[in-house]
This record gives sequence, structure tokens and C-alpha cells, in this order.
Amino acid sequence: MTTALSALALVAVLVVAGGVFARRALLLTRLVRLGKPSDRSGDVPARIRSEATVVLGQRKLFQRLVPGLVHAFIFWGFLVLFPTIVMALLGAVKKDWTLPWLGHQGWFALLVDVFCVLVLVGVASAFWIRKVQRPERFKGSHKGEADLILLWIAGIVLTLLGWHATRIALGLNEYPAGWSPVSDALSDAFGDGSATEALERGFVWAHLLLVLGFLAYLPHSKHLHIMTAAVNVWFGRTRSRGRLEPLDFTVEDESAMRFGSATVADMTWKQMIDTMSCTECGRCQDVCPAYATGKELSPKLLIMGLRDQLFAEGPKVLADEAFQPSPLVPNAVSDDVVWDCVTCGACVRECPVAIEHVDHIVDLRRHLVMVESRFPAEGGTMLRDVERSQNPWGKPQAERADWADGLDVRVLQPGETPPEVLYWVGCAASFDERARVTARSTAQLLQAAGVDFAILGPRECCTGDPARRMGNEYTYQSYAEQNVKTMNEAGVTKIVASCPHCFNTLANEYPDFGGAYEVVHHTELLTQLLAEGRLQPAAGTATITYHDSCYLARHNDVLEAPREIVSRIGTPLEMARSGRRTFCCGAGGAHMWLEERGNQINEARAREAIETGAETLAVACPFCTVMLDDGVRQVGGELRVADVATLLAEALEPSGPGVAG
Ligand code: SF4
Ligand code: SF4
Repeated sequence: MTTALSALALVAVLVVAGGVFARRALLLTRLVRLGKPSDRSGDVPARIRSEATVVLGQRKLFQRLVPGLVHAFIFWGFLVLFPTIVMALLGAVKKDWTLPWLGHQGWFALLVDVFCVLVLVGVASAFWIRKVQRPERFKGSHKGEADLILLWIAGIVLTLLGWHATRIALGLNEYPAGWSPVSDALSDAFGDGSATEALERGFVWAHLLLVLGFLAYLPHSKHLHIMTAAVNVWFGRTRSRGRLEPLDFTVEDESAMRFGSATVADMTWKQMIDTMSCTECGRCQDVCPAYATGKELSPKLLIMGLRDQLFAEGPKVLADEAFQPSPLVPNAVSDDVVWDCVTCGACVRECPVAIEHVDHIVDLRRHLVMVESRFPAEGGTMLRDVERSQNPWGKPQAERADWADGLDVRVLQPGETPPEVLYWVGCAASFDERARVTARSTAQLLQAAGVDFAILGPRECCTGDPARRMGNEYTYQSYAEQNVKTMNEAGVTKIVASCPHCFNTLANEYPDFGGAYEVVHHTELLTQLLAEGRLQPAAGTATITYHDSCYLARHNDVLEAPREIVSRIGTPLEMARSGRRTFCCGAGGAHMWLEERGNQINEARAREAIETGAETLAVACPFCTVMLDDGVRQVGGELRVADVATLLAEALEPSGPGVAG
């Protein structure tokens, strides 16, 4: 083929492949532009860090070494091999055309050879994992498509190596063959005659056709994530992982108000990119406590279901303003899936492409609860109690400070001088008998250390967290505004909370409503008091395993403080899953008040604690206290469950305030 003919053929192929790609990319872009607003501006340094570590460094994938290496070989390989595509485009037109400078570097030829091999190793290992190991996490993924893509990638790399090998055989290389040891070894299979010349043309064109075919196929396949993942990571959350985006109920045009996600047209643009970014790797499914205990919910299938519906109905919405998309629930996901979630965030933390499953689920709940009044009956009881009694236990507010009887705890009255620290007790520790023990212990410890603190007593209302996680954003916002008003009028500046759910709401969500306070968890304050010598417990020998609460460890990175307390009073033993990779107790996302179907999450976690052989299971959350105490009883364990504050109080004063269990 002459140079002119080759150029013409190349232009034709580029136009076809580029056209197919551009047509699909345009549709996807229009879909994203259809999405509702979500503010993801600012925090540029944090976003750059995420790109560097999560995308380039493949940080999340390396949480599992072998699959991480497999993916990294392929991903880094494609970054390194990218210039070879341009070289092939030039070389396909004329044999001695290549990239200026880079195309003449021996070291780059070496790099290309090395990464060709690494990509092939990656592809072979991926096949091994998929076909031989067959991990559960791929259940429900498009496996055939993944196989095709892997073969395609192998084809791209093999044709590249073939092209380089034939060039070496024909003496077209301008640097010593030693720079390309793999291609050089392969070149032995070829002579230097016309057959090799034809093969050299064949390889370069086959390589280009595979690359351009891949480009055209990419946005139509699950490997769309190659285009969207870096974008999704860039726009991922930079603020606390435990914070939910507030809905804006103040917009004047009621029809423009968002009440969560009813159809694909209600999803935010970030949520749309989320669905386009899922690689179907199943890492989220692997860590999901609902899935692990046999529930219908799989965070992977949830995202895939939303994506399928977006792709099925999004184009129709774009084409016809009058088109009415169908409800996401139950068409894309079932009601049970929506209510199975405990908002533990394990999926979000694990996801390598920054998909925010919890936001999707809460948005689905928001629509079901606020628009359709469709939710599990027991959740309705809780919501009614929160609305009527200002706490999900439905107890009179007048009893809120009863836990402190006989402790001489100051109840802050309107107009009084604010304390150094406000102790936010929370509904659980105010009303639940077992959780009240924690409140008493915490108060006694603060008194023993001489901390100037007070409680709000009956002026403290539910933070609104259970209502919010259940989907009732309206009730949540009423309580957020009321509590912020109370605390701002009281001049509160610092809060200690013993409930991680309250802690998360006060620290991360109340700033959206004008409540800016220094918020610490009681384990953090107690650790500080220990460090200052204001609390001096006796060292103990009991073995203690500590259960990380999701809202403390995973959502808010409080890991060391409770462990410091445990190590001061006993011998710590870690559970198999701990720290940010902890396993939920089963109470989050309003599940403290919902019936759990099938196997119980709290029992699964209790078994894990018992397996450590520890005598005591320490917790730092009133919900975990109740759930795990129940779990241990149900599985017949001997383990004692107690809050770290209670254990610390006992270590100070053996006749302390008592324990759960
Ligand atoms: S937040 Fe937890 S329970 Fe909900 S989908 Fe994710 S891993 Fe599963
Ligand atoms: S949501 Fe994330 S972790 Fe789950 S399958 Fe998709 S890419 Fe993997």
C-alpha cells in the first residue's frame, strides 16, 4: 500500500471508530447534564491527592494484593503503552514514521517490552482468578463481557509485540535490539524477506484496528469505567464520609424541590457518573454486612440496576420531554434492597472508583418515605415517636435526664453560663437501660477528672439521625434547626458525645445548619484526660476485644482513642475485621428500629468477637452495646459487653456504675 493509500485507510478507520465513540460519549455527557445539582466544587488539593493515590497509585485496589497487582499491571501498562498507539498510527502510514524524540529512545522501547509482559501477566492472572478461583464477588457481574475485554487487551499487546518483533527482524530498529529483549527474542521467529514485510504491515494494522475497535466499544460496555473512573474519583467526597447532602426545601418553585430519587430523572449528575463508573468488581458486595448475612441487598447489583435503568430510560427522557420514566423502586431495585442497608459505608470505603452507595440508598428512601409514605411498618412507629416525643423511644422528654439521678450532673438552664464542655447524651443513653450505664460512667469519669460539663436535659432532642437515615429528611432538618438554635443560644462551643451517630451528625452535618462546634467522642476526651494524668486507672489483665463502630471508625477515623483506653485497663485482642474495615453491629441506618430478615448481623459480629477468646467485648456506641449484647446472648457466648467508658470507670473505682449484660 502506498503512503497516500495508507493515510486514506487510516483516516477512514479513525472517522468510523471516532464517530461511534463520539456519538456514545455525547449521549453519556447529555445524560450527566440532565442530572440534578450536587455541589462538588472546592477542595482541589484533596481531589488532586485522590487522583494521585486512588487513580494513579491504585490505593484501594491494593487493599487486596493479588487482584490489586493484576489491575495495576494492566492499568499502568496502558498508561506506559499509550504513546505506542500514536507511534503505530504514524508507522501504519509509513514504516519509518514515529513520534519525535520518544520514538527514538531505547529506554522507552525497554519500558514498552517490560509493560507488555506485565499486562499479559495481568490478563493471565485475571483469567486465573475468574475461571479457577471464581470468587463470590463476581456473582451477578457481566462475566462474558469481562472475558472478551481481557482477550481484547491481550490481542492489543500481542500485536504490538509482533509489530516490534517483525521490525527488528527487518532491521528497521534504530537502537540496539538489546533494548527490546522480548521483541528481540520473538524476532527470531521471523526472517527478513517479503513475508515478514507483509507481517509487519499486518501486525501494525491489526494492532490499530484492535485499539480503535476497543475505543468504539468502550463506552458501550462495562469498561466504560476506563473513561469515567478518574472523573468520578475527582468529584468524590472530600468532606466526612458520614455526612449526607442536605435537601433544599427552601426553593420557591415546589416542582423543582428534590425529595430524593423517584426516577432516573431525579438522580444527581454525580450519581449518574457513579453508575457509569462501576467496574462490577464486587469489592463492595464482599464487605456488605447485609449481603454477608443473606439479604437481598448487594451494593454492586444496586448500582448496576440503577445504571441499567438510566441507560434504558435516560435517552428517552432526553428525546421527549413528555416521557415519564418509571419508578426506580421496584423496577431498578426492590423495596427490600432499599431497606436492607445499615448505612455502614463499608461499600463506599472499598469501592475503587469512589461510588457513593449510601447516598443512592438514602435518596431512594427519601422518595419512598416523604412522597409515597412507603416504608417498613416498624420504621413508621419510630418516625412517629421521633416526631411526637422528640426521641425514637417514644419516652417523655421529662425523663431524659433520669439516668443521672443521684450523680449531681448540672442541667444547663437558659441564660446560664455555658460549661467548658456540653455532654450530648443522645437518646439511646438517655432512655435505654443498658445504654444508660455508659452515660453514668461517662459523667462519673468527667467528674472524677474535674471537667466543667453540663447536659441539656429535656432541652436535648433527637439529633434527627435515625429519621434522616430512614429517609425523612424533613423531620431531620426540623430537629437540626431546633438543636442548633438551643445550643447557639446557650453559647455552646465544645461538645462531647458518647453516641457515634450523634457525634457524626453534630460534627459533620450540623455545620450545614449553622451549628459549628468542636465535637469530640467520649473516647477521645477520656484518652486526653488519661494523657493529662487526670484519670489514673489501675492496669488490668482481662483480655478485651474492641469492636469499632462504623460511624466512629469508618465514617470518622476515630481508631486510636478507644484502643488507648483498652490498652490502659486490659490486654487488647483484635478481631479479624477491625479499624476502618470493621463489620457493622446491624443497628445503623435506622435498623435499630427495623425488623431484620434472615440471618442477624449482630450475631455474625458477636461470633467474630467470641472467636478472639477475649473475656470482654468493649464497645464505644450505645447501639453497638445493645446489639452486640443481644448477639452474644443469642449465640450463647459468655462474653461480657461493655462500653469502654464503663470499663474505665470500673478500673478507677471497682464498685463503679455497673455494666451491660
Ligand atoms: S452501606 Fe453497608 S449495608 Fe449498605 S450497601 Fe454499603 S456495605 Fe451494604
Ligand atoms: S460499586 Fe465499586 S466496588 Fe462495587 S462493584 Fe462497582 S466498582 Fe466495584
